[in-house]
Amino acid sequence: MPLNFADRLNNVETSAIRELFKLLGKPGIISFAGGFPDSAMFDVDGIRIAANAALTNEPGAALQYGATEGYGPLREQIASFMRNKGAQDLTPEQLIVTTGSQQALDLLGKTMISPGDKVIVEGPTFLATIQCFRLYGAELISAPVDGEGVKTDELERLIEEHRPKFVYLIPTFGNPSGALLNEERRRAVLAMAVKHQTLVVEDDPYGDLYFGETPPPLSLLALSAQVPGSRELLVHCGSLSKVLSPGLRVGWMVGPAELLGKATMCKQFSDAHTSTFAQATAAQYLLAGRMPGTLAKVRKVYAERAAAMGDALRRELGDGIEFVQPQGGLFIWARLTGANGKLADGAELAKRAIENNVAFVPGAPFYASNPDVATLRLSFATVGIDKIEEGIARLAASL
Ligand code: PMP
Repeated sequence: MPLNFADRLNNVETSAIRELFKLLGKPGIISFAGGFPDSAMFDVDGIRIAANAALTNEPGAALQYGATEGYGPLREQIASFMRNKGAQDLTPEQLIVTTGSQQALDLLGKTMISPGDKVIVEGPTFLATIQCFRLYGAELISAPVDGEGVKTDELERLIEEHRPKFVYLIPTFGNPSGALLNEERRRAVLAMAVKHQTLVVEDDPYGDLYFGETPPPLSLLALSAQVPGSRELLVHCGSLSKVLSPGLRVGWMVGPAELLGKATMCKQFSDAHTSTFAQATAAQYLLAGRMPGTLAKVRKVYAERAAAMGDALRRELGDGIEFVQPQGGLFIWARLTGANGKLADGAELAKRAIENNVAFVPGAPFYASNPDVATLRLSFATVGIDKIEEGIARLAASL
């Protein structure tokens, strides 16, 4: 009997990336395809100590059902973590804990999107966001991005034209663009939110992964304190996934009280609450003060790998490729130039590359509309420097 699935599934396809991932088990393959942090960098000792402390100090709370909004001590620790990053006035009540920031995106879809509603995203943007918002029937409109993030003049034009339900941005080391939105544009986005009374969603799982001495510009959340009227129009999604462990599934959402209330109601019917054991462990971890050390360590390793990959790409692929060297995050977003008759199709290169035992993700699926087929996303996060050099040499041979 054919199963009569819900109409909403007609709006989404299995991701092209998942199909590619099936090929990654091939022996000897060097993969730049994943969006994962490096599991070799997990602070296993720190997490073990934190899990032990959670079970020793508060076994009831860590193993019992909990509040949908999140475990109180974790909300306090997250608020304090965010205050240290410039969101000076943030209180625990202004955020809810989510099961990864992915759930925050799902809750946004559930609470805000009716079929046919327009949402502006970056072109390119996070693939799971495209899929998730489409599942709720959103019509997605892509705003163009350059090396400094979304082009705000274009964004404003699109807001005026489409009057979207909200705008979804990854301002800091975007996935897949790696781009860092400059401060002037950040202020422009907040001013635009106020001027057009448009909700803006800042998805920020990578902001702590900066490579230089100084942190990136303040998050939209932190800057919103300086732009009157903007905080009420801003949602900020954060996550421990890329800095501590994605397996913990601890993320959070800051937003207007009314929106958080509706999101909490929807979360209640979805997973009741994020794992109390994971939340208590995360709270103990943050309380123990290990995060700054962990961040310093991962930043250093990713910075070295990003530099090695950039150097190798310039050396091996020369004028066949163009990209902006990322200042943080996990990805190099590149474009095949087609110079001197070379290949300029990311999907075709991905096929040839797999044959040569190197993998990456072609860029086209990251666009909600008008894909640039010459683009590709290369992750440097999980591969050591020797393998990065070898993998990029294989990529050059494939080109
Ligand atoms: N947003 C972006 C931009 C991401 O890249 C990811 C993970 N790849 C997520 C959200 C979801 O992460 P998590 O649910 O693990 O917090």
